[in-house]
Amino acid sequence: MIKTDILIIGAGPTGLFTVFEAGLLKLKCHLIDALPQPGGQCSEIYPKKPIYDIPGFPEVLAGDLTKNLVEQGKQFEPGFTLGERAETIDKLEDGTFIVTTNKGTKHHAPVVAIAGGLGSFEPRKPGLDNLDIYEDNGLEYFIKDPEVYRNKRVVISGGGDSALDWSIFLADVASEVTLIHRRNEFRGALDSVEKVSELKNLGKINLITPAEVTELHGDGKIEALTVSKEGEEFRLETDHFIPLFGLSPKLGPIGDWGLEIEKNAIKVDNSLNYQTNIPGIFAIGDVNTYPEKLKLILCGFHEATLMCQAAYRIINPGKKYVLKYTTVSGIDGFDGSRKEAPKAVVQSIQ
Ligand SMILES: Cc1cc2nc3c(=O)[nH]c(=O)nc-3n(C[C@H](O)[C@H](O)[C@H](O)COP(=O)(O)OP(=O)(O)OC[C@H]3O[C@@H](n4cnc5c(N)ncnc54)[C@H](O)[C@@H]3O)c2cc1C
Repeated sequence: MIKTDILIIGAGPTGLFTVFEAGLLKLKCHLIDALPQPGGQCSEIYPKKPIYDIPGFPEVLAGDLTKNLVEQGKQFEPGFTLGERAETIDKLEDGTFIVTTNKGTKHHAPVVAIAGGLGSFEPRKPGLDNLDIYEDNGLEYFIKDPEVYRNKRVVISGGGDSALDWSIFLADVASEVTLIHRRNEFRGALDSVEKVSELKNLGKINLITPAEVTELHGDGKIEALTVSKEGEEFRLETDHFIPLFGLSPKLGPIGDWGLEIEKNAIKVDNSLNYQTNIPGIFAIGDVNTYPEKLKLILCGFHEATLMCQAAYRIINPGKKYVLKYTTVSGIDGFDGSRKEAPKAVVQSIQ
């Protein structure tokens, strides 16, 4: 059982910034995310796009914003359960919660902050038979640990940035990389398309277009695929098949937690602290709704900050929190680090 003060569901920008604001109040956070990496939409959908409306950053790449948020929260030692979807919630008699993921990991906390954005990103699966037999037995929709593919034969399918970027990356890891796409054109960053073309010419990526995988073969695990190219079918031996067809967000299991839902978002009280209709459960960032709601990163940051104050009062009943500026109080990390502005000194000048 993982125990924490604030259990955050969703490690997008809102969830990540919550770690920092909670840390200032000496509250510990643990984050669950269905994706294998933090950053939510920023890292999954548009890591290489510049954002222009983060206060203080005239321009920042979404991927760099994620890195900075992770770095900013590090001193408060957050825990992560990645690649798992929060599935069920149980309220205990003492008012605390147990959240269990689809893989059975249990988390216990007095406060739950849902920062689930558009919902948990589910992979778009290919329309093939017997997917369930091969899932996690050579058929993967995410690459969690590239080392799994070292010296293995890998077939990637898809025509977007993920398919291009992982083909490039695995060209140096796997013994054989094949990229299959149903069109000759790829929809990705120009430098990635050029790099794949270069690796194809060097014989490091086997490119098959326009083509589709039509059948999976193997005794309990992937051993080969049937590929259809311009009306002709052939068999391709491989150890792994990784279809990267993008992700579609779904509010998913959170929609069945008894929370008030409006237009696929969780209704909260924005006049106070973004609490839902269940005391102790908050919803912040893109996942919530209230009058005049704006789905912007900076709004998520603000909501996270106010929510942490409410969490403090739940966890420390009767204790008063006095707001302190970080420039004045400095920051004491849970890792023993201390950051502070240089103190004024009293010294005479001769
Ligand atoms: C192309 C594009 C460009 C954008 N440009 C801008 C911009 O310029 N400026 C701006 O302010 N905003 C922009 N946005 C919007 C911005 O990305 C979102 O407002 C922001 O990502 C919301 O952050 P969040 O943390 O609330 O949610 P998200 O980033 O959506 O993260 C939510 C996370 O929760 C996880 N999750 C959900 N349910 C579960 C569950 N049950 N179990 C486990 N994990 C779960 C998801 O996997 C996801 O990682 C843009 C969005 C897109 C798509």
